[in-house]
Amino acid sequence: MASQPICDHIRSIESVTQPRRHECEECVAIGGRWVHLRTCQACGGTRCCDSSPNQHASKHARASGHHVIASAEPGERWLYCFSAEY
Ligand SMILES: [Zn+2]
Ligand SMILES: [Zn+2]
Ligand SMILES: [Zn+2]
Repeated sequence: MASQPICDHIRSIESVTQPRRHECEECVAIGGRWVHLRTCQACGGTRCCDSSPNQHASKHARASGHHVIASAEPGERWLYCFSAEY
């Protein structure tokens, strides 16, 4: 993902919400596959990244207004904000 300036959405995150399960909750429901997982910092849901066929994390961000996700991949620690994309 492209680097970006740290926005107020990311600045307001005090502790990063960790994934409850290492699976995309929407892919599980439809029998889809995912590449990487991202956890929504607003509702704690874990969904798949933009490299995945269904791109549930970014669809969720657009639909819900939940801008900030964290990587749910083991060993990755970063936050990303979708608000610059729409
Ligand atoms: Zn933002
Ligand atoms: Zn998915
Ligand atoms: Zn959410």
